[in-house]
This record gives sequence, structure tokens and C-alpha cells, in this order.
Amino acid sequence: MKICVYRGTNEIGGNCIEISTNKTRILLDIGTPLSSMNEKNPLETYKNSCCGVYKEDTPTIDAIFISHTHRDHYGLLPIINAKIPVYMSKITHDILTKIEPLLPDDFDVSNLDIHEIDSKQTIKIKDLKITAFAVDHIPGAMAYEITDGKKRIVYTGDFRFHSNQKWKSWALADLANNPDYLIMEGTRLSRTEDIEKYNTENSVYRAITKLLLNSHNIAFASFSSQNLDRLVSFIKASIASNRTLVIDPYTAALMDVFNNVFPTVPTVDMLPNIKIYFGTSESIATKMKKNGLFYKHKNKKITKEEILANPHNFILKHNKKLTDWLLKKGVDNYDFVYSMWHGYLDSQNTWDEYKEHITEIHTSGHADVANLQKFVKRIKPKTIIPVHTECKNDFKEKFNINTLVLNDNEPMKL
Ligand SMILES: [Zn+2]
Repeated sequence: MKICVYRGTNEIGGNCIEISTNKTRILLDIGTPLSSMNEKNPLETYKNSCCGVYKEDTPTIDAIFISHTHRDHYGLLPIINAKIPVYMSKITHDILTKIEPLLPDDFDVSNLDIHEIDSKQTIKIKDLKITAFAVDHIPGAMAYEITDGKKRIVYTGDFRFHSNQKWKSWALADLANNPDYLIMEGTRLSRTEDIEKYNTENSVYRAITKLLLNSHNIAFASFSSQNLDRLVSFIKASIASNRTLVIDPYTAALMDVFNNVFPTVPTVDMLPNIKIYFGTSESIATKMKKNGLFYKHKNKKITKEEILANPHNFILKHNKKLTDWLLKKGVDNYDFVYSMWHGYLDSQNTWDEYKEHITEIHTSGHADVANLQKFVKRIKPKTIIPVHTECKNDFKEKFNINTLVLNDNEPMKL
């Protein structure tokens, strides 16, 4: 087998890894670089140098396997050749086809040949066999094992070991034990600011609850709706603190998608302390109205006037328009829980006006170094290949194992 990493050997994001034999070419992920998130360039700007995969190419890639629904792993899908089959978990499929198209940038993969793959299911692509393994990162995140019958390669995707789903990442070490090559993410070799007081999702939940119980103010919260673990932490904390959690129709639709795959995840209708504020962004509202999703839970409606009447009873998912209206109406004491990666707080000036009120409560989506070391000891690879990292040259020392350090676009025989 051969490997070529088109992007991701020296950066966090933009993952795209080709594994090939003389007969077969597959890609693991096809993401956009993280920097693209703050820019408004056309997708074509971020194409990597892989050939035979884009719309205008004659397709020579036999299949693409997507690890999870973060754009730095799948962002280029809308510009690939639609003849190439794409494999992903059911939840990833549902989010890419039902939720992502609601966002303002008109993301559209409806023309693609998408196939769902379950954890522990094996797919044969010519002379390669690819097996998926669920991991702890976000719902539906998969690692993949690839073999040509002689050698085995394991690709972790993004993963961690500190939510309620951590057993999945440890199971990967046992189910795909002793591979010849382990292509492993190393986000937190450099993002050391994530090594903070909240080491687990449970500690995040407890901290939010404590803040809400000790506060007599209205609380705003900024978190990613697609981060199911975090959403559940806010739901639980609002119940524990006897507050009503106000979300948007988009988050309610996401809960329906999650519930469809994981029935233990509640929908808004199952939770008496959740309300929906319908004054969401116009472009999301228009799209959701078109497909009948917008007012699906209209019985949960709350108005801004109702919130203003008793502000301290609420925790609101931050919506700039609503937050600013309430502040203008005289709600001057407030708490603001910022529950996303610290890097956005520094790089995006949208947070500046709330800064004095912000409490950061967050835990990373990525494994810390200590857990990566434990994982490597347990899965016992012969060689590690670093990706999704700014510290590829530190892997050898950190993991004390044979390490193959690649450059982007550098093919290597395995
Ligand atoms: Zn990710």
C-alpha cells in the first residue's frame, strides 16, 4: 500500500489522506482548512492537489470515507465528482443532508452517492477492506481500519477519551489492535490551552450547574448545537438549576435528527423545561419553513417579552439579536457561559462586548497527550503517522515509538 497526505501533516484541519494499491485509490476525509471558517472564499480556493476526485476530473478515486461532521474533515464534498461513492455513519449522513443545508452557505451534497456504514462493518473496495469503528469525538464519529490483506492501517480521525462515550475510543485500541501503521491526530500536542480545569464533559456539566445555581441573573450560553454532549450538559444543568433553556428551531431540528439515531437523546417535546425562540436568522428560517421544519415544535414557543418578564428564570442559547435586545431593555446583570474552543474567543471580535461577563466552561473534543500515550500503549502500532497536528516532530519523543513523519503531498510506500 501507499499513503499520500494531501493536507494535514502540519496543521490542525484540512484532512485528506489517500491510501492506494496498484488497483485501488481511496481517500480518508476531504476537509477544508480551519482558516476557511473565518473566510468567505469559494470552496474551489481550498482544493488540495489530489487528482481524479473533483467535479471536472475523470474520477479515479474509488471511494471516500468520512470520519465525522466537522468541515475540516468533509468540507470539500460539494465539489467532488458525484460518481465517487462516499461512506459515512448514519448520523453523519443525516447531519450532512438534513442539517448542514440549513446553514447560510448553501451547503449541498444531495447529488452525491452516499452510503452509510455502521461501526464494525467492513466494506470491500476492490483489493482493500475498510472497517469502521465508532469513537468518542462528536456523534457519529468513526475511525477506519484499512487492509490489503498483508498490512493494516488504522486512521483515528479526531477522537478523545473524556465524555460518556470514551469507551468507544478505548474499544478501538482492542478491536484494531497491533496495526502496522496508526495515522493519529495530535491536536492537543500544541493546543495546550485546552488542558484546563475541565477535563471531562461531566466536569463541564457540574460547573455550568454550579454557576446557574449561584447566580440570580439571566444566563446566555454560547455552544455548538452539533456538539451533542455539550447540548445534553446544558439541558441537564438547566433542569438541575430549575431554569428554562431557550434554544432555536435549528437546535430543535438537530435534536430530532439525534433522537432518530439515538433514541435515548430526548426531543424538545420530551423536555418540559425547554422553549424555542423563533426569532432566528432569516436565512435559516426561510430554509426551514420551506421543508416544514420551522414550526414543527411551535407548541414550545416563547417570546422575548415573556423572557424579559422573568429573565433570571432562563438560560438562553446565545442569539446576538435576542441577547442585545434584552440588554437594551435593561437586563444589565447577566452571566455569559462561553462553551467552545478558546481560540475563537481570541480570534473573533464578536465576543468583545460580552467579555466582562464571560465564564469559559469547556472541555476539548480532542484527546490530551496523557490519554494519547495510554492509547498508543494499548493499541500497540508498529509505526505512527502524525496528522491533524502542528507538532508532527514531537510524536517520536512523546510516544517513544517508530514514527513516520510525512509532508503534505509526499507519497510514501508502506
Ligand atoms: Zn473534529
